[in-house]
Amino acid sequence: MRTSIVWLHNDLRTRDNPALHHAASEGHVLPLFAWAPSEEKDWQPGGAHKWWLHHSLSELAKSLTDAGSPLVLQKGPSLDAILKTAKQSKASHVYWNERYEPLLRRRDLKIQASLRDTGLEVKTFQGALLHDPDEIRTNKGDPYRVFTPFWKKFKDLVAVPQPLPAPQLTPPSNSIESLAVEDLELLPTIDWAGGLRETWTPGEKGAHDRINAFIDEGILTYHDRRDRPDLDGTSTVSPHLRYGEISPRQIWNAVTDQHPRARGAMAYLREIGWREFSYHLLYHFPHTTTKPLNERFKSFPWSGDKVALKRWQKGLTGYPIVDAGMRQLWHTGWMHNRVRMIVASFLTKDLLIRWQEGAAWFWDTLVDGDLANNTQGWQWSAGCGADAQPFFRIFNPVSQGRKFDPEGAYVRKWIPEIAELPAKLIHAPWEASPAALKDAGVVLGDTYPEPIVDHSDARKSALAAFEKLR
Ligand code: FAD
Repeated sequence: MRTSIVWLHNDLRTRDNPALHHAASEGHVLPLFAWAPSEEKDWQPGGAHKWWLHHSLSELAKSLTDAGSPLVLQKGPSLDAILKTAKQSKASHVYWNERYEPLLRRRDLKIQASLRDTGLEVKTFQGALLHDPDEIRTNKGDPYRVFTPFWKKFKDLVAVPQPLPAPQLTPPSNSIESLAVEDLELLPTIDWAGGLRETWTPGEKGAHDRINAFIDEGILTYHDRRDRPDLDGTSTVSPHLRYGEISPRQIWNAVTDQHPRARGAMAYLREIGWREFSYHLLYHFPHTTTKPLNERFKSFPWSGDKVALKRWQKGLTGYPIVDAGMRQLWHTGWMHNRVRMIVASFLTKDLLIRWQEGAAWFWDTLVDGDLANNTQGWQWSAGCGADAQPFFRIFNPVSQGRKFDPEGAYVRKWIPEIAELPAKLIHAPWEASPAALKDAGVVLGDTYPEPIVDHSDARKSALAAFEKLR
């Protein structure tokens, strides 16, 4: 019977894992994870990623042992880890699910060629997306740059198959060297991860528990509640999808099986569609991880204000909805989508700081930091990406706060120092009278910052900078 290595990466699951499934149908299976962060260059996993990965790998190791073939952990370089494991196990085949991040794609192609040179058979599968990025094209044969027509074509062309079951695995007969998860040293040495532990349950079971709870309790009102950070209106499956603990195909089928036509379910699948679109863009425009899709923005006069950047990162801008979002991010490794848009607009348009600085901070601190979604989200918010909100539409952080957090519950949760302000003042504490501030125990500039900029002045400066581009 042949032995196959399944090289895992962002597909840390046993169910609906095409590479694992295929290997299991042919013989002995050796699931391998190689820790090689330097191969990801500028996009190495940040602290929150590593925390998640530690727990996700621990869970996967248990599931794979239960399924029959323990996980082999190695430190990179990836090619060396695969070759070493292949030699020990006498494996003849290496399988993996394709990755779409530009650097990883290039690396994987090189590894594929090197493995073939040594006589190993290599085959790759698709497990991370619902569509093949080469398949969906405009009628002229170009990649899409706008979501709505992409989504229409997607729905016309793509039939999402049923997910694959978890395979029964047979390990190779000889014993294979493996590190323990602890040997990868992914956990922080100073324990700052309390907020992450309170919020998340990494791993395949945690992923399914979350989506099942959302389908049972949240999806039917998703379209009404998804923009409200003060309500638990979204699925919060993003970090599970990021690590491939659940596949988009599993989510799609679970949703359509239970709610084939409900409005909330359709709105939800459209967001899964945005994830597909982000990968479509990343695949066809790989330079956009660092450069604007809209080339006009190459010469935009960004500010290099490091002090303002720090205040934004720490949630000390004096704009409550912005600060609440940045503190939620720091504490839990996640931020509500509406608030991501508000803080991104604030950084790029009120503070005129390059979107790449914001994307890098998100990358370091998000548990769901995903190169495709993060790049698309930042370029969209900055107004230089696909289907861009034009640069001149600038979010007003006060009216956004009042509209989407009407009672101020979200702000109160993350900014306790202004929690006693009444709802009508909580999104603009500087509008409060001295008596109202005193009653709430707020001293502006002392217990909570004065606004870092005046939004209407900042808006004018942003528009003037944009005018120069035109
Ligand atoms: P739900 O609303 O329950 O949606 C379900 C899933 O659909 C999400 O998990 C996600 O995979 C996908 N999705 C939802 N909204 C979007 C969107 N606008 N674009 C692409 N996919 C979407 N998402 C990430 O997964 N990783 C990131 O690094 C990331 N960075 C972002 C940066 C900015 C500036 C912005 C504006 C958005 C970013 N997003 C990112 C998209 C979105 O904010 C998150 O996917 C969403 O908040 C995750 O929460 P959820 O799982 O509860 O989403």
